[in-house]
Amino acid sequence: MSRFWSSVVRTLTPYVPGEQPKIANLIKLNTNENPYPPSPAVLTAIQAELANDASRLRLYPDPNADLLKQAVARRYAVQPDQVFVGNGSDEVLAHVFMALLNHDAPILFPDITYSFYPVYCGLYGVDYRCVPLADDFSINPADYCGQQGPEGKIGGIIFPNPNAPTGRLLDLDAIERIAGANPDAVVVVDEAYVDFGGNSAISLVDRYDNLLVTHTLSKSRSLAGLRVGYAVGHPELIEALERVKNSFNSYPLDRLAIVGAVAAIDDEAYFQSCCAQVVATREQLSSELTALGFDVLPSAANFIFVRHPQRDAAELAKALRAANIIVRHFKLPRIDQFLRITIGTDAECAALVTELQRITAEG
Ligand SMILES: *Cc1c(COP(=O)(O)O)cnc(C)c1O
Repeated sequence: MSRFWSSVVRTLTPYVPGEQPKIANLIKLNTNENPYPPSPAVLTAIQAELANDASRLRLYPDPNADLLKQAVARRYAVQPDQVFVGNGSDEVLAHVFMALLNHDAPILFPDITYSFYPVYCGLYGVDYRCVPLADDFSINPADYCGQQGPEGKIGGIIFPNPNAPTGRLLDLDAIERIAGANPDAVVVVDEAYVDFGGNSAISLVDRYDNLLVTHTLSKSRSLAGLRVGYAVGHPELIEALERVKNSFNSYPLDRLAIVGAVAAIDDEAYFQSCCAQVVATREQLSSELTALGFDVLPSAANFIFVRHPQRDAAELAKALRAANIIVRHFKLPRIDQFLRITIGTDAECAALVTELQRITAEG
């Protein structure tokens, strides 16, 4: 705390990202990165951008990243003016909170969800209500379809699908029901993990002008280090995001990020096989941990959410850490006996199972 801090800064409670330890030989299953490298086409495109003209980096990138918007539009059969791109989907989401969720009425999101949402509410002064997940940790669509808030009004709705950190998925009928029941509020579906087992609600944006879908290249495209995300929705929703972006930073995506992201999106075959591999490993790991006595929530993501009926989650995480394996433990109500485990390679997951076998066999 310093007397130089603004009153806004004094009240902030910033997000705490998962650890990125600088230790060699660590099995890192704590931040949902992809265990496989990005498409080789990404590196080729970045090298070409650098080689093409040694002085390219002297020049500003395209402020609208049109090539990237076109690539997203092609991939999802929408128009480029239905696409917004940003420096990671976290930045896209920040603009969404400022541009589309900041109204006089509270917004709704689940009590157990991506912990950046309340942080953005704090940053932009957005009022919110948490809607409890059902006992089985699923989202009940009906909870988002009634009259809400003191005057029966809500300022918007946001949730990840699949939800994080539970991994549980809603089907498109449920998304459609929520969007249809709230025609005067923006419904944001954060699809950071949808490529690992869900159907994208992008197929619904032409029918619901209040529906906005966000994606990231950090997980299913193995590009967490490049920082690229996007949103797809009605052109008027996109225009709101552009207005905020152009009042904040004209060039959120650098030249290398733009060409790398386009190459990643264009390499459909690599993307499909990479996702299929992660899904196969997830199913294998889920059944092995079930056999070890863990409860494993059904996951449509690149992580699983598990608990052991007799073992304290924090102690399990600590014991794994001592064996150089890191997983995520949240010290939060309702989920403090769970561990969120990112799907690694088959070898990494086999090492995890061996360690958990050893730990749970000890008295
Ligand atoms: C990882 C994640 C994001 C952010 O992704 P970036 O594009 O890396 O900023 C957004 N939402 C959820 C639910 C996530 O898990």
